[in-house]
Amino acid sequence: MKILKFGGTSVGSVEALRNVKSIIEKEFNKDKPLIVVCSALSGITNALLSASQKALIQNDFSEILKAAEEKHYQIISELLPRTAQNPLLMMVKVSFNEIEDVLFSVKNLGELSDRIKDRLLSYGEQMSSKIVSAFLQSEGFPAVFQDSRKLIATDSHFGNANVDSKKTNENLKNWKLENQIYVVTGFIAKDKNDETTTLGRGGSDYTAAILGSGLKADEIQIWTDVDGFLTADPRLVKNAFSQSELSYQEAMEMSYFGAKVIYPPTMIPAIESQIPIYIKNTFKPENPGTLIHQKSEITKGLIKGIVSIEKTCLINITGNGMIGMKGFSGRLFNALAKYEVNVILITQASSEHSISFVVAFDDEKKAKTAIYEEFDFEINSNKIDEPQFDNELSILSVVGENMKKTRGISGKFFSALGKNGINIIAIAQGSSELNISAVIERNELSKALNVVHDSLLLSPVKTFNVMFAGTGNIGKELFRQLEREQRNLEENHQIKINVVGITNSREMKIFDNPESDFDLNNNFNTNLQKSDLKEFINSISSKNLPNLVFVDNTSSEDVVAEYSLLFNNNISIVTCNKKGNSSSYEQYSKFKRLAKKNNVSFLYETNVGAGLPIIKTLNDLWISGDEILKIEAILSGTISYIFNNYVGDNTFAEVVRTAQELGYTEPDPRDDLNGMDFSRKMLILGREIGLPLEMSNVNIKDFLPEACLKAESIPAFYEELEKHEPYFSSFKNEAENSGRKLRLIGVLEDGKINIEVQIVDANHPFFGLSGSDNIISFTTSRYKNTPLVVKGPGAGAEVTAAGVFADLVRVTAQ
Ligand code: ADP
Ligand code: ASP
Ligand code: MG
Repeated sequence: MKILKFGGTSVGSVEALRNVKSIIEKEFNKDKPLIVVCSALSGITNALLSASQKALIQNDFSEILKAAEEKHYQIISELLPRTAQNPLLMMVKVSFNEIEDVLFSVKNLGELSDRIKDRLLSYGEQMSSKIVSAFLQSEGFPAVFQDSRKLIATDSHFGNANVDSKKTNENLKNWKLENQIYVVTGFIAKDKNDETTTLGRGGSDYTAAILGSGLKADEIQIWTDVDGFLTADPRLVKNAFSQSELSYQEAMEMSYFGAKVIYPPTMIPAIESQIPIYIKNTFKPENPGTLIHQKSEITKGLIKGIVSIEKTCLINITGNGMIGMKGFSGRLFNALAKYEVNVILITQASSEHSISFVVAFDDEKKAKTAIYEEFDFEINSNKIDEPQFDNELSILSVVGENMKKTRGISGKFFSALGKNGINIIAIAQGSSELNISAVIERNELSKALNVVHDSLLLSPVKTFNVMFAGTGNIGKELFRQLEREQRNLEENHQIKINVVGITNSREMKIFDNPESDFDLNNNFNTNLQKSDLKEFINSISSKNLPNLVFVDNTSSEDVVAEYSLLFNNNISIVTCNKKGNSSSYEQYSKFKRLAKKNNVSFLYETNVGAGLPIIKTLNDLWISGDEILKIEAILSGTISYIFNNYVGDNTFAEVVRTAQELGYTEPDPRDDLNGMDFSRKMLILGREIGLPLEMSNVNIKDFLPEACLKAESIPAFYEELEKHEPYFSSFKNEAENSGRKLRLIGVLEDGKINIEVQIVDANHPFFGLSGSDNIISFTTSRYKNTPLVVKGPGAGAEVTAAGVFADLVRVTAQ
């Protein structure tokens, strides 16, 4: 025999109820009884509660009741044939009249007991179950309504009654079941005075398990509105996905720590009778859902879910007088128990003279009363300090049975929080080692859930939220590459890049929600604001999105000026902008320090040689303890191009002009030829191996005669070049006559940087460089006789954007 429980949304609309019918049709086997447990229609329990609160403070509750009543009428009239409608409409009318009577007396007396509340709430399940049974009958099923109050016995703890298992099981044993469908009210029960009680919010799940256990059912099916037990609350974590299997303990731990999908006590009767529980989606019944059963070896995976309790209060009691105070904890927890305060967790910070624990937000007042009553004397005599209550907190817990066998999970958990700037106020590990919990600020909960979910690899896909500065050649190209590659990233590398903002020097756009549209024509067209970088950064950071990255594709000092703000907001930076790392050493080291302090990445591979792996290679050598003896490099693609083409009859001026026409130079070619850009790159390399160098330490031997450098305009500059052709050709001839080549080479050795034109022979590794390629050779202790060489195109939007792209992917891996 099976027990099928349908939650509020599963019975809350005509569409849902039609699905319920099809599910029952599949499950009902004519030679066995079938038990169907129903919750109240969605929203009805809440509506009855708020109506009663209104009545209590003498407010008008009629609107709420009217809407609730309407909802029932509407479903009945759409779902059932006319002839079957009348008795049900009458039943609803009578129920609401009775509800109204009770509420009027609440209003008149100004009193609302838990006993009255339970009586009121019970109408929800009574009405829904009667509607479902009548509907099934009208569809030709042998269905009958069954009030659970005749079956489930409890104590008189209204609002959250304790089940009298003995009495209940006796009732169930005596229940003569026939081969038909019993539609049973969830949630409600009866005490020994025949008063209606309830099993606690969400208690219909529990009803199903109690019936399942007492009737020795083969399985319990919980039908709801999601695809099973998910790895996190889908309303808070978009990447949450369904777990195919959980152990009873895991399910209990997750629901106790906040997963609303199943009511925690539900697992207890199921464990006792070893009945499997399936959680299934009424709206997608074909999906497999989740099976909860006795832990078997097959429950794969370390971490099963990340759950949270949004509203909690941390209570801290300290005092030197507590040292050696006998029975302190016993007195404390007894006092809390007396006031029915549920202690959710006790933190590890507790010591002999301090104890911290967390209670539900709603229990704060009761806890205060309990503590002050019990420790009145100790507080007044200063043995205990004034207890502290912090109620702006949430608990985040990672749950998984296999965690206890594995080290390092807590490290990963806490570092994911730390990396995203989330402050951990307290931690706790359950004694079962089934969960690790952290207490954090409530406003950081959503971000925390998402980063922990993604970083503990629960989610197949890791999401990064990226803000982009710069929509020039490199920026545009990067968007093109991201657009082209996003599917590959997601499917093959489990990385999802979202855009959360775009800015250039004129305009900016802050996206309401992270998007995956990388078509600039489309997404950077409407809703643009005048750009304001500070506002851009602050407003995006205030959204508390996880894994934020800022990509700087500009060459602007103004953007660099905001790097500190970015790091301090726990935002990683990926940049091709050299200005940040090549101005003062103080600034360079400040950025490194801030990135480290805030646990974020700062990647700038494209500062030197575009997409070529130069900085990465250098860092790898450096980190692995190799000693860098010498770095030689050609890092100006423009000058390479010019020298490679300055052969035969060409004049130097002609070659420069062609280079300019081909777009290989800056608007003023002297910005390349003066070696400034090259110097910046060499400077960064020097700093990367720990040398505190400034620009003034870079010796650059001007290749251009002073008159060329000083020419007042670009045409004048070309004129000077022509005039100095004999000077240039003397180099060229010297090279050509001896079968050698002209190269502008930077050398870093003995802590010094020199950049000058050299004439190299065929044995030199830089001799064969062609086009506008860059080359760099590292001579190190390990690579002494044969230096390590990196060579390839070192400029251009395409390779630079690809380098930025690669850095972005590296952030995701860090
Ligand atoms: P029902 O009315 O069917 O009992 P509930 O609203 O009580 O449904 O529980 C289902 C809801 O629980 C889902 O719609 C989902 O929003 C929420 N939920 C929270 N955490 C989880 C989780 N870890 N897995 C699945 N659902 C969850
Ligand atoms: N209707 C009750 C509630 O909303 C019981 C349930 O849905 O499980 O709490
Ligand atoms: Mg529920």
